[in-house]
Amino acid sequence: MLSLLLPVVVLAIVIVVVVISARDRHGQGFERIVRCRAGHLFTTTLVPGMSFKAVRLWNVRFERCPVGRHWSIVERVDESTLSPEELAEARAHHDVRIL
Ligand SMILES: [Zn+2]
Repeated sequence: MLSLLLPVVVLAIVIVVVVISARDRHGQGFERIVRCRAGHLFTTTLVPGMSFKAVRLWNVRFERCPVGRHWSIVERVDESTLSPEELAEARAHHDVRIL
């Protein structure tokens, strides 16, 4: 039983360490602003190669929008194109935190 559990525990520890170190290095971690098809802006956690809360097909993410409370295809938004008001609105709404 221990031989089955050990690799899982080690993998979980590695993932946590990688996520924490990446978060420290980039300041904002994997937090990214996205826009749903209805135009709502919100912040989500994007981990390269992993999707904990979204259904991902290639580069398209299908995720629950916390603003409109619906499921939608979401796209990353270049933060430099947003006004200060839009940035504040996007940061005020975060999908379900996993970390
Ligand atoms: Zn929405």
